[in-house]
Amino acid sequence: MDRQPPAELPEGYVDFYKQLESWQNEQTIKLRKTFIHHTQDIEPLLNSRKKPLLMQVRHYIDEKDFNQVYRALIAFLYEARPNTALYLDSIMRGIDAFSFEQIIESLIKLDDKYLQIMATQLNISEEFLYFTLDHALRPFLRLIAEHYTDALKSETLDWEFYTICPVCGAKSHISRLRSEDGQRLMFCDRCFSEWPSRFLFCVHCGADKPGSLSFIKIEGDDAYQLFVCEKCKGYLKTYDERVGGKSVDLFIANVETVYLDMLAQERGYTNHD
Ligand SMILES: [Zn+2]
Ligand SMILES: [Zn+2]
Repeated sequence: MDRQPPAELPEGYVDFYKQLESWQNEQTIKLRKTFIHHTQDIEPLLNSRKKPLLMQVRHYIDEKDFNQVYRALIAFLYEARPNTALYLDSIMRGIDAFSFEQIIESLIKLDDKYLQIMATQLNISEEFLYFTLDHALRPFLRLIAEHYTDALKSETLDWEFYTICPVCGAKSHISRLRSEDGQRLMFCDRCFSEWPSRFLFCVHCGADKPGSLSFIKIEGDDAYQLFVCEKCKGYLKTYDERVGGKSVDLFIANVETVYLDMLAQERGYTNHD
């Protein structure tokens, strides 16, 4: 049975993200047949250069493949989000002139200058344009990240930017405490990578004195917790598998727990975005 979040979310909000994730999973399955990624020895790259993998190596994402997936995403959005049709129309009027090579480069490098120019030309919000492009890239990113699932859990990995994904560079907003041993794993909802961080430790500022860290739970929803830091006022959403008793889809959990973000922010905490 679906979990009932303790706070009301806008009608259809969680459902939309579930549909989007299913659509992306289908794309990932299709692309897996042809997409090639040359596995890198990620640990020395991360330990020595202190930058996410995709900022360091070639991505091998083909612009024609991306073009195709992007058009399929726009078709999906016409169905799933008909209230955005005007923006989608603007995109479709300009799409033949898009430089998908430059778009991929901007998304990979997390540099939005080119996307700002595009949004102005298309006369739509940069946020909406970015949402569409980045979600079309995610199936590719997830295929790349699959190569590093085990390597990222290595005991000798030295990745000190706990809130930044070591593969794609996106910011993480949720973690889980693993059922077997309570190990905290940070989660990237963009490429689905997971990497370890200490338990009694602020992932934002590194504070680890018992007095500076605490957590907030919501009555009746004990598995979802907010870890908060008094030193930097940072917070981190966490799903405790030992309490919840099962693993959950953290992509959806992150969307469903918007009420925890609201609660944290009401109490003066920030995720330092
Ligand atoms: Zn990532
Ligand atoms: Zn802190």
